[in-house]
This record gives sequence, structure tokens and C-alpha cells, in this order.
Amino acid sequence: MKTKLFFSGLFLVGCAVLTQAAAPKVIAHRGYWNTPGSAQNSIRSLVKADSVGCYASEFDVWMTPDSVLIVNHDPTINGVEIQRTPSSEVLKQKLANGEYVPTLEQYFQAAQKLKTRLVLELKTHDSRKQEAAAVKKTLKLAKKYGLEDRLDYIVFSKDAFKGYVKAAPKINKVYFLNGDYVPAQVKYAKGAGIDYSIKVMKKHPEWIDECHKLGLEVNVWTVNEPEDMQWCIDRGVDYITTNEPELLQKMLKK
Ligand code: MG
Repeated sequence: MKTKLFFSGLFLVGCAVLTQAAAPKVIAHRGYWNTPGSAQNSIRSLVKADSVGCYASEFDVWMTPDSVLIVNHDPTINGVEIQRTPSSEVLKQKLANGEYVPTLEQYFQAAQKLKTRLVLELKTHDSRKQEAAAVKKTLKLAKKYGLEDRLDYIVFSKDAFKGYVKAAPKINKVYFLNGDYVPAQVKYAKGAGIDYSIKVMKKHPEWIDECHKLGLEVNVWTVNEPEDMQWCIDRGVDYITTNEPELLQKMLKK
């Protein structure tokens, strides 16, 4: 009888552990840039995200007409339009912290020495042909630098989403950013999950459970306010993308 009670007790504890949602993982948005000496999408921001123990560091990628992949958020840098300017000109541009704008190859070389995962956002290009070529080239570079098992892809473009789902190795997860696919559509399109803004998620909190029931994951961006972080934590999202990774880490420790 005692043994029976002991085992049913163990079973109940096991169930409680299984039903308790894991804490969201912290992703630094455009690297950890909101700290001295750093800048958005700089190599420094990647190193900094790694040094504070972020689960992953997110960054944005564009391709020049001569097929060089550049890490930058905006389509222009210091007035130079990345999609329409030769790389020789783009690479003369500096970031706010004095670093030259990095190529994806330089970013990957820096990442090889680090542990943090990488969340690559391919920006939506004006030319579908250039965007499709950029999808292929990012995958090729990931392989070249042996980073395939540390990379996830996020995109607004439905073409790029399909491109990554089709061509990326199975270990890479592909998330949709646009907010206009319901979870079932992402599942049907063979994505790994949704990566939607906090504004969209607050309109559709039911999508968190819907995703989990479908075996999809939920990432929310860009969550910088403590009350929004708590909202995400309470609802059991899988990842939070933030400009304030250390603040979020402190909240998660409580
Ligand atoms: Mg981004």
C-alpha cells in the first residue's frame, strides 16, 4: 500500500512538472545594442548578447546587387541604399559605435567563437529575384561556417518563408513575422511557429494556446516594457525578443 501511494505521489509530481510552462527564452533584438560601446546589428552587439547569456541574438540581412550579404536593419545606411549599391560603397559606411557595417560573413566569423544562437531576419527585398538569391546565399554561408545547427530564420516575406521552409536543413526553424497568418496557416506552410509583435499578440492571445496545440512555437517582439514582459511570461510564450535582455533576465529570475 505504501509503495502504491509513493508511486502515485511521484506520478502527480511528474504531471505538475510537465504542465508547468517553461520560462520564455531571451532573444536580443538586433543584438544587445542598448549598452555602452554597442550599436544595432554591430558585431559588438552580437558579442554582448552572448556575454550576458542571451539564448539567441537576432539580426537583419540585406543583399547588395553584387550579391554581398550585409547586416543592417534599415534598407539604407547613411543614405546609401543597400539593395541598389555595390558592396564596395556600402562597406565604407560606419555604424553608430564606429564599427564598419558588417557583412554576414564577418558576422558568422564572429559567431563561430560564441555560443549564443542566431536568429537571422532576411528583410523583404524590392526584387523577388534578389530576395530568392539572398535566401540561397544565407543558407550557403551558414553551411560554410558550420553554423547550421545554431540558426533560425524569420521573415515577413511569404516568398522567403516558402524558400526557407523548402531549402533550409530540418534543424533550422522558420518563423513567420507578418502577423496575418493564423496558427493553422503557419502549420500548413510547415513553419516552426509565429514571431509576431506584442500588439498583434495582445489582439490574439488565443493564438498562443492554438500554436502550442499544433506543436508550433511562439516568439513575441519587441517586448521592452516590464508589464508586456510579464504578460508574455504569464501566458507561456516560448521566446521574447527584446531591446532590454538584462531587464528581462532579471524578471525571469524572480
Ligand atoms: Mg529584425
